[in-house]
Amino acid sequence: MSEHRIELITLDREIGDGDHGENMDRGFQAVLPKLDDLPAGSTPADVLKLVATTLISTVGGAAGPLYGTAYLKASGAAAGETSIDAGGVAALLEAGRDGIVARGKAELGDKTMVDAWTPAVDAARDAAERGATAAEALRAAADAAAAGAVATEPLVARKGRASYLGERSAGHRDPGAQSTAYLLEAAAAAATN
Ligand code: ADP
Ligand code: MG
Ligand code: MG
Repeated sequence: MSEHRIELITLDREIGDGDHGENMDRGFQAVLPKLDDLPAGSTPADVLKLVATTLISTVGGAAGPLYGTAYLKASGAAAGETSIDAGGVAALLEAGRDGIVARGKAELGDKTMVDAWTPAVDAARDAAERGATAAEALRAAADAAAAGAVATEPLVARKGRASYLGERSAGHRDPGAQSTAYLLEAAAAAATN
């Protein structure tokens, strides 16, 4: 998020209020030191929950509660697991996406982060069904999210601040869809290491 801070600010300046990169960078900078303080034996669900509560208290705006909900629901989907396979990746991404939809009421094509999450869920699910590893499922999800973010460009926003612009929101990439693509890209890269 810190690497892409300026780009996300620029995207949000075009169809929003220009704070998305700042908000996301602040949130994940707050997460990093807390990860070091997690007790030994913490589970993936514990990590996801820590990210959720940190994002909810530091990001603000529309994206803070939406991403916070996504990580909280993903944590619930991973409960009790000590490691995550491809099916687990698909399940936690799906729970995260469903949390965002329940909270923000956006449908596919409304030009929001859902337009990156939904293709990511589908790609992770397909990968799991083909017998992929967790890292391969995350790679497929990240690539699908990146394509989903690009595909928001021609859309007219129907949710969030960009919807105030109506037709003028077309021709710009949705900042939240792009930050989702970067989150999943980071997850995929981490899983390959
Ligand atoms: P704000 O608009 O409050 O400044 P941010 O700039 O941090 O918040 O986040 C904007 C992003 O939030 C948008 O690009 C969009 O992807 C996402 N978003 C806004 N409203 C919704 C919603 N109802 N459902 C899903 N995503 C949304
Ligand atoms: Mg904003
Ligand atoms: Mg704002």
